Amino acid sequence: MQTRISEDFLQTPMGKRADKVIRTCVHCGFCLPTCPTYQILGDELDSPRGRIYLIKSSLENNDFSKESIKHLDRCLTCRSCETTCPSGVEYGKLVDVGREFIEAKRPLWQKAYRYSVRKFLTTPILFNPAGFLFRHSKVKTASIKPQTTIGKVLLLGGCVQPALAPNINHSVKNILAKLGYETVETPQKECCGAVDQHLSANADALIKIKHNIDQWLEQLSTGIDVIISTASGCGVMVKDYSHMFEESDPYHQKAIQVSQKTQDIAEFLADKDLSKLNLEKVDISYHEPCTLQHGQQLAGLVESILKSLGYKPAAVKDSHICCGSAGTYSIFQPKLSQTLKINKLEHLQASNPQMIVTANIGCLMHLQKGNKTPVKHWVELLDK
Ligand code: SF4
Ligand code: SF4
Repeated sequence: MQTRISEDFLQTPMGKRADKVIRTCVHCGFCLPTCPTYQILGDELDSPRGRIYLIKSSLENNDFSKESIKHLDRCLTCRSCETTCPSGVEYGKLVDVGREFIEAKRPLWQKAYRYSVRKFLTTPILFNPAGFLFRHSKVKTASIKPQTTIGKVLLLGGCVQPALAPNINHSVKNILAKLGYETVETPQKECCGAVDQHLSANADALIKIKHNIDQWLEQLSTGIDVIISTASGCGVMVKDYSHMFEESDPYHQKAIQVSQKTQDIAEFLADKDLSKLNLEKVDISYHEPCTLQHGQQLAGLVESILKSLGYKPAAVKDSHICCGSAGTYSIFQPKLSQTLKINKLEHLQASNPQMIVTANIGCLMHLQKGNKTPVKHWVELLDK
């Protein structure tokens, strides 16, 4: 796609990024059928191609209309379009630019609402009492210490997960201990920055990201060799740290180091001998989060581990489509989010599983709400 973005804007990092992504799109439309919002609404402007046009024309005219804001807000940032696109269009990077650009044009009430949600979710002293009230799972097993230590890992604690589902990282620590790894967990205040970034508070996100990079590099210098994430939404964010700084920025190289050392728990466990773990034997169906399959491009990895352990996760129709959780999407776009959840649960429950498992706290809480089939993180199955 040709662009006519103003020279001044083209000289900025945002302008350069947007121009590069827009030029890669050849408007073939292959991404349309795999976009959840286009599937539901059938409007070109709610498709990846339509949104690329909207962002392009808005950047060229230096103006975003209310309609453009509406269509961009409906995007889940699921990045299903990136997986489908044959031209390698990095849509996620473009939509971040578009969102940053429109933030200043929002009405005051929207700004205030988005600010309150963001602060509530990322400030432990505010979120923890509510998280405790709506707690999904308590710690269920005794803590295990490694008998012999063969390594040390840094486990990302996350900001909302410790309050809502402390059993997830507890299970991971036990699994790692059985495999001979000592775990150091990051404190709750070291949020990855995803909530701020998704709500276009990029300056606040960068403060968190720089703080995390400094802290985690210090940890890595003490003999820790890997950073493990159990929430795929946090994992994709930390892996993207390396793209958030200009090459001239002193944090650029540091961010690359942190991103390269970060693995989802599935990547870490994939080549380990898991035969000594105590498994919860249940019939499951597995929901693969967008942040794992499209964001981190790890489609099928969790399923292959589960199958190697004897589980038989049923095939799930439209498994590439988002469940509607998508960070704070369920708060700001409740109708679309609910439609996607209903569709997803129908597909996940088609095989009558005893349990649904997933790999991200956001999907887990979203799919559990109002649903009698238990939903767990898949690692909890491995710590009975
Ligand atoms: S599939 Fe890729 S190149 Fe084709 S319209 Fe979609 S984003 Fe553009
Ligand atoms: S990120 Fe998801 S919702 Fe947004 S345009 Fe791409 S496929 Fe559609």
